[in-house]
Amino acid sequence: MKLVLLGPPGSGKGTQAQELERRHKLVQLSTGDMLRETIASGSALGAEVKTIIDSGALVPDDIMVKMIAERIDAPDCANGFILDGFPRTTAQAEALDEMLARKGTSLDHVLAMTVDAEILSRRISGRYSCAKCGAGYNDEFQQPKVDGVCDNCGGTEFSRRSDDNPETVRARLDAYEEQTAQLFPYYREKKLLRSVDAMAEIGEVTAEIERILSVA
Ligand code: AMP
Repeated sequence: MKLVLLGPPGSGKGTQAQELERRHKLVQLSTGDMLRETIASGSALGAEVKTIIDSGALVPDDIMVKMIAERIDAPDCANGFILDGFPRTTAQAEALDEMLARKGTSLDHVLAMTVDAEILSRRISGRYSCAKCGAGYNDEFQQPKVDGVCDNCGGTEFSRRSDDNPETVRARLDAYEEQTAQLFPYYREKKLLRSVDAMAEIGEVTAEIERILSVA
């Protein structure tokens, strides 16, 4: 199964992608995580990417398309994948269709996560993750069961993303409205798009996604 999760920053794509990965033995491909790894590697490309990400703008299409094209060729993607954060522009969506067509395959579903703008900024400004295993938490919506201790791995160090500050978040939401929202008509026309109410509880969103996948 090959899925795309569309949705603005803070809509819960990463959380749902992790859940889908676990339930369906798919691989979560988060371009944001890949870019953060590139930054952490200390390469020249990483430095270039950091400036762009910290401004809230999108990384150029050619870099992103190359990154995903290489990644989906890896053996662990043979059973399918969940694209979390890609495509974000029409050019990326077209390139994705072409790379899948060359492999004789295509996307199965595109799930659009819809969220209220006010909730979005609260979600983004409150989020943080375990520094050891990456499990995601939120000051307001999802705290660890034991204060300061990761539910998943017992880690006690947590970190926040540098691009989760109000100014960068505004620019990221603008980039979403201006560029990524154009993908809705693109995928609607291909009859792949299904809308998911991402304002519900995490478990309910997961259940809604499962319903969509089971009937389609
Ligand atoms: P995310 O973790 O998905 O919120 O992505 C964080 C940042 O990485 C975005 O604000 C963009 O600057 C960059 N980024 C991630 N995925 C893409 C993409 N498909 N195209 C362009 N830029 C991206």
